[in-house]
Amino acid sequence: MPAFKTLDDLPADLTGQTALVRVDLNLPMQEGRASDVTRVEAVKPTILELADRGAKVLLLAHFGRPHGQRHSTMSTSVVQGDVERVLDREVMFISEVSGPVVQQSLAILRPGDIGLLDNVRFWPGEEANDPEFAKAIAANGDFYVNDAFSAAHRAHASTEGLAHLLPAYAGRAMEAELKALDAALGNPTRPVAAVVGGAKVSTKLDVLQNLVKQVQHLVIGGGMANTFLAARGVDVGKSLAEHDLAATANRIMDEAEHAGCTVHLPYDVVVAKEFAANPPSLRTANVHEVAAEEMILDIGPQAVEALGDVLKTCRTLVWNGPLGAFETPPFDAATVALAKTAAALTQDGSLTSVAGGGDTVAALAHAGVAQDFTYISTAGGAFLEWMEGRELPGVAALQR
Ligand code: ADP
Ligand code: MG
Repeated sequence: MPAFKTLDDLPADLTGQTALVRVDLNLPMQEGRASDVTRVEAVKPTILELADRGAKVLLLAHFGRPHGQRHSTMSTSVVQGDVERVLDREVMFISEVSGPVVQQSLAILRPGDIGLLDNVRFWPGEEANDPEFAKAIAANGDFYVNDAFSAAHRAHASTEGLAHLLPAYAGRAMEAELKALDAALGNPTRPVAAVVGGAKVSTKLDVLQNLVKQVQHLVIGGGMANTFLAARGVDVGKSLAEHDLAATANRIMDEAEHAGCTVHLPYDVVVAKEFAANPPSLRTANVHEVAAEEMILDIGPQAVEALGDVLKTCRTLVWNGPLGAFETPPFDAATVALAKTAAALTQDGSLTSVAGGGDTVAALAHAGVAQDFTYISTAGGAFLEWMEGRELPGVAALQR
């Protein structure tokens, strides 16, 4: 794994130092309240460790998309209460990210106290990665900690620029994420299987292209499988499929063959004439027997069993995208069954399993296996860019 510094590289006693800590506090909101505080829980260990080691901790985060202007509804003060509740500590809200207001606040804060700076995206310098803006923030800190992997695919002042101006460290959540991702694709134990599902091939072309070079087994499910089946000449009826991508799908399958990667497409599927919960027209069919008025909405039980056997021969699994339209029963069946197999193999110690993606996280939680995978990444965009094999600017800056 590329070397980066962690909190272990800092002196044990941080009294007298100020930590600028980039966290993800972009909490999902419902009626003005945070509906989920997972992101705060994720950064809690880093914040409390730094505070308990005596640092003054300044939290730096974005919240919504204010596009370089102040909006009271997008102030980080909106989530101050949630942060305090999860940390079980008092947090001082500071209405700036740099300048005298921050300086004066630091004079009030004692060692071990926590301050929450306002939404860093209120200033255009953030997204422009303006070095002057980063310098102004850096002036109030002794070192920088990045604990927001989910924002690491952006080269912004608070995610990238600051790492060049102050001694930079990965926080505990960032460290765990990078270790898990390295175990899954950076330096994995072979054989490696990748499961890629979801609605559309077009959103994951780069992911597929990268994976065929890295993994020994590529499982394609979801609406994407329909595109691949159609490219092979299978009549997929009314299924969601991108027929214009047939040539691309065939090229990916050729590349896989050259690279020694086996592509697994389903040979049975679950179909219906209408997309609804438990529709009367529901049936399981061989892929070659889909009628013109039917839609493929999940992969079939035989395919799932065969994929379970593939996973039993693998040591590493990386998963993005559900195998079917899992929000609507019973089209969650394949995703749930394969997730349970992967979870059991992980618990037996024979498989390292890493998954990510917005809907994937929801699907695995629905399957009840969220705790049984080796690692589940909640970083949507950053996780996908990592699966595409891209270097993430926020991570690269920590590696210097
Ligand atoms: P993620 O957010 O994990 O990256 P995607 O957004 O790519 O996943 O895909 C998830 C969506 O794909 C889900 O809403 C699911 O209903 C849909 N989907 C999966 N299989 C099918 C299918 N056969 N037909 C239509 N939609 C599907
Ligand atoms: Mg999605």
